[in-house]
Amino acid sequence: MSLETDYLIIGAGVSGLAFADELLSRSDATMTLVDKRCAPGGHWNDAYSFVKLHQPSVFYGVESTPMGRDRLETTGPNAGFMELAEGPEILNYFHALMRDRLLESGRVRFVPNSEVLGDGGIRHLLSGDHQKIKVRRKTVDASWYTNAVPRTQTPRFLAAPEVAVCPPNELPPLAGRFERFTVIGSGKTGMDAVVWLLENGVPPDRIRWILGRDAWFLNRAYTQPGDAFFEDTFSNFAAQRRALAEASDVRDFALRLEACGAWLRLDPDIHPDVFHAATVSEGELAQLRRITDTARLGHVTHIHPDQVQLERGEIPADPDTLYIACTATALPPRPVRPVFEGERITLQMVRFPQIPFSAALCAFLEAELDSDEERNALAAPLPLPDTVSDYVRALMPDMMNRYACAKHPKVREWVSRSRLDGYSRIAAAVSPDDDRRRAILDEVKSASMAGAANLGALMQSLD
Ligand SMILES: Cc1cc2nc3c(=O)[nH]c(=O)nc-3n(C[C@H](O)[C@H](O)[C@H](O)COP(=O)(O)OP(=O)(O)OC[C@H]3O[C@@H](n4cnc5c(N)ncnc54)[C@H](O)[C@@H]3O)c2cc1C
Repeated sequence: MSLETDYLIIGAGVSGLAFADELLSRSDATMTLVDKRCAPGGHWNDAYSFVKLHQPSVFYGVESTPMGRDRLETTGPNAGFMELAEGPEILNYFHALMRDRLLESGRVRFVPNSEVLGDGGIRHLLSGDHQKIKVRRKTVDASWYTNAVPRTQTPRFLAAPEVAVCPPNELPPLAGRFERFTVIGSGKTGMDAVVWLLENGVPPDRIRWILGRDAWFLNRAYTQPGDAFFEDTFSNFAAQRRALAEASDVRDFALRLEACGAWLRLDPDIHPDVFHAATVSEGELAQLRRITDTARLGHVTHIHPDQVQLERGEIPADPDTLYIACTATALPPRPVRPVFEGERITLQMVRFPQIPFSAALCAFLEAELDSDEERNALAAPLPLPDTVSDYVRALMPDMMNRYACAKHPKVREWVSRSRLDGYSRIAAAVSPDDDRRRAILDEVKSASMAGAANLGALMQSLD
């Protein structure tokens, strides 16, 4: 049997879903979403049970359908900040979206357990059958950012057979059987595992944390797109642009971002060069700093019952230890390529660090503009940052996209109403009589211009 469709969308994670959702609103096209997984939602299907969004639910998901209840967290280290959806909630959202909106429309088909091959054909992973598909308009690659999560990755270190190693998914059921815990990995998942142990009553002196590379984090206090947070959020955004305007080099830029409160680090004596845009609160950092048994000797290479070997040394170990492997690189580095290339669309981040917004904006551009040249001028792809230098490199296309979108009346109008953009909506709602908020927005504008003027010099200082 062969299929026909206007758009073939490879991947039904949030990128594919946010694109399909917006295109459904803006066209009469038919779409076929294909995913290797058995359900929509991408990597969230394999997330650990205590995972939460980094960012407020209020601007995650797809454009048409709000996520969460627009409330504040009431407990834990993020109390007082905007709600962060939990893993099951995120999956329920994607399931309901697929069932009640996309499939219900009669214009969208979902083909699970299936892989789109290089020749554009589909291989069904359970039956092994191959199917041809005739694509009338375009193929949309929504798999460019396929996330590597611990459950689907084999750790890159060896462990003796008697050593207990598990992904964070297995931590809750296994935790009661062990005296000591070693969390391996300094990314968001490693931090979540440490906080989970502490919140569940494990004393800090029974936890060891092996940190591969220290990173800078975004401060949750200033990533709050809610009206009640307007002053803090936009004043800090202006301060970040001032930091860009005044920075002499990348190290100085990071320190200025820290000085204005936008960026945080775990240890003030260590200057990280990693930046993956993970978000934490001061409350979470205070929890993490309770762990004093930390190891910074590079990546783990081999775990024996009584010793852990790392790239730059070894440390003694207690045999009654559960090792929690949080070592998968969620977003492995990928090259950039133009988003719109004739019959191919490659969804990438075109606004930092907003993957769902980027996918929805690309669908809007696909439906509403006439040429790829015009679309690409508004949606240059951003490199995924691994280091602060990469972040500086991503700022140039990010700022150019923002500027180009703001100059295009139709796109500006869409962005100013976009749920997934988060911030533009509350900025657009400021009354002309609100002098205080107008002054803050003016400061954002002038600081952004000054920042853009210094960006070229800052880029020249990169290695
Ligand atoms: C723990 C965690 C928390 C995060 N929190 C946030 C957050 O708060 N905010 C944020 O913006 N980002 C967050 N991220 C980043 C994350 O990358 C994005 O939110 C987003 O989920 C990425 O979605 P995606 O659709 O691009 O990729 P994925 O979710 O990985 O989906 C890609 C899909 O493509 C499928 N696929 C790949 N190749 C093929 C093929 N050839 N044929 C068929 N199917 C294929 C895969 O099976 C997969 O299901 C988080 C990431 C992690 C790991």
